[in-house]
Amino acid sequence: MTDDATGARTYDVLVIGSANADLTVRVDRRPGPGETVLGTDLVENAGGKGANQAAAAARLGARTALLAKVGDDAFGEMVLDGQREAGTELRHVLVERGARTGTAMIVVGPDGDNAIVVSPGANSRLLPGDVTDARAAVAASAVVSLQLEIPPETVRAAVAVAGETGTRVVLNPSPVPEVLDPALLEAADPLVVNEHEARGLSGLDAGTAADWARALRARGARSVVVTLGAQGALALDDAAGDPVAVPGVAVTAVDTTGAGDAFTGALATRLAAGADLADAARFAVRVGAVSVTRAGAQPSYPTAEELD
Ligand code: ATP
Repeated sequence: MTDDATGARTYDVLVIGSANADLTVRVDRRPGPGETVLGTDLVENAGGKGANQAAAAARLGARTALLAKVGDDAFGEMVLDGQREAGTELRHVLVERGARTGTAMIVVGPDGDNAIVVSPGANSRLLPGDVTDARAAVAASAVVSLQLEIPPETVRAAVAVAGETGTRVVLNPSPVPEVLDPALLEAADPLVVNEHEARGLSGLDAGTAADWARALRARGARSVVVTLGAQGALALDDAAGDPVAVPGVAVTAVDTTGAGDAFTGALATRLAAGADLADAARFAVRVGAVSVTRAGAQPSYPTAEELD
């Protein structure tokens, strides 16, 4: 599935991952066991780390495809609408009859803290065979972007196929496992982790982001990017040798939901365009910063024009 005899790749970014409906209600007080409280009107948004990262990349102009599984329900339509709006290629989104689309039920408390229950639904039915069936799409992509909201064996299959097809793997190991499969760690180029994930996976109790990045490199990751919220990010690969600190962009944060996904989608976009890791991280920090100035996840992601 390459473009022509030059072997150019059809997609810049192929995201293989989750797609959810995010259902959010705000409450003044959290219910205890057996208790009922009244909340605000329900807000429905397309979400899921895979779908978010695809939307971020597509909005920035990357030729983006999403390999995900949704149910044949209204939430599946909502996921697809979100991707259509962003400009994602949808031919690899699988719709499973009779399945429910993944759902995240989010209760936002008075101080803005979230309590979330995820029902994986169709995400748990995205199987290794679905990835091997899409081998041509992996081969046709410059970068494949992975997270851990689909079955682990499916992520392993994606890494294996990407290895065979020479496709670069961007891995965002979230939700973070206690131990990351070495095959995944060694494929990650880069491993994209927030501070919490970096500390946990590095095995270090204390230290700085640079320490955690070095430890993750020593454990096998080809390169590492640590996101640092308002402080920006840190990039570490062989080209730079030492960790490169990318300062944050000062903005008034309104809603940080999905900022990490905006960052990863943007990083994959720039890497697919041939940028080095530090340059891609600089771009992604700008995109992440814009995303926190607006409400929601996917609707907050900027286009390339808006970034300028
Ligand atoms: P989330 O779970 O909210 O999606 P995360 O924990 O995965 O986020 P963060 O490190 O918090 O990831 O944020 C990712 C990127 O978003 C940062 O590297 C930065 O570019 C941008 N960002 C996040 N918060 C802010 C902020 N308050 N001000 C400016 N930029 C921010």
